[in-house]
Formats: sequence, C-alpha cells, structure tokens
Amino acid sequence: MEVKVVREILEANEVIAKQNKELFSQKGVYVLNLMGAPGTGKTTLLEKTIEMVKDRWPLAVIEGDIATSRDAERVARYGVQVVQINTGGACHLDGNMVREGLKALNLDGIRLLLVENVGNLVCPAEFNIGEDDKVMVLSVTEGDDKPLKYPLMFQVSSLLILNKVDLLPYVDFDLEKFRDFTRKVNPRLEVIEVSCKTGQGLQRWIEWLQGRLEGRR
Ligand code: MG
Ligand code: ZN
Repeated sequence: MEVKVVREILEANEVIAKQNKELFSQKGVYVLNLMGAPGTGKTTLLEKTIEMVKDRWPLAVIEGDIATSRDAERVARYGVQVVQINTGGACHLDGNMVREGLKALNLDGIRLLLVENVGNLVCPAEFNIGEDDKVMVLSVTEGDDKPLKYPLMFQVSSLLILNKVDLLPYVDFDLEKFRDFTRKVNPRLEVIEVSCKTGQGLQRWIEWLQGRLEGRR
C-alpha cells in the first residue's frame, strides 16, 4: 500500500515536471537543478557562477529551502531575478513548487535558470522539476564513501562538482577511492574538482555549462 502511494506521488510529479519542461523549452531557457547535502557550498557555487556568467547569459534563480530566505538574499545582491521557495518542512523541491515559484519570475529573454534544491542527498534525486540537467555538489568534508551510500543521487546527475578541494590536505578524503566508488555507481558521471575559495576548477565548470547551453540550440 505504502509503495503504491509513493508511486502515485512520483507519477503525479512527472506530469507537472513535463509541463514545466515544455514551458522552459518554449522560452528557450536551460534549467539546472543543483543538489547536495547542507553545507557543501551550493549557494557559494551559485554566487561564483552568477558573477562569471550573468553578463553572458541573462539568468534567474530559484532558491529552495525548508525555511528562511537567507540564500535568496545572498543571490539577490547580484542584481538577478530570484524567487525563494520555502517548502515548509518538505525536504526537496517538486514540480509543483517550481511551477508556483515561476509565477514570480519573468522568463522572457532568460537563457539560464539555476535552481538550488533543498540540502539533502536523498529525495531531490527522485523528484524531477522539468530541468535539463541535475548537478550534484559534494564537498571533501563529507567523506569519500558517499557514492556507495547515496547511489541514486550519483546516478541521476549529469555532473558532480567535488567542492572544497582546497581542504584535501586536512581531511581524510581519499580521492582515488572516491573516483572508484563513483565509477562503480555511475561510470558516465563527469567529476570536476572545484574550490570556490581559490577558484580552482571554476573555469572548467563554466565551460561545461556553456557546452550544455549550446547543445540546446
Ligand atoms: Mg544554500
Ligand atoms: Zn524530500
């Protein structure tokens, strides 16, 4: 019984996610769903990304959080459209929440929509929102065994940003082991090592993004 209810929720979400996707493609917007545990640096990566690309591609941001608008306030300082979705306790964004959030955005002329999901390694991976790509942010402070423990998130992502690599000398994160585990759960997953602190890898990340945006044309 419980399994059936879960399946129905996911199926209902798929219908709305598809409608969102149609809207995005009509408007010519490429949509990225940024996922990862709390404290991995998702918002900081967003800020760096906005700084680097906002003059190249008109962009908008959706911030998903259980409570507060702290992240939206950080992003708003860059002078881009941003809407905060407070999930009121729910641990992920779904298609319907994003559809509601879109009412507060004007997508005309927008090329890139960055969506920061709720900090969580589990169910954001199960709920499509109509995005073109899911990108996962993992930081080296979280441990190298995460691919084995949360395989779905690694399997549905197009790219993994391994963040805070400037901390590698200070933490027990075995890069080789991590690469092995990642290949085991998703052999096609591309990994970019990044430090938002030093700027390492950010250029490569922007090039990846550019490739995806141009792939749609
Ligand atoms: Mg955040
Ligand atoms: Zn959830």
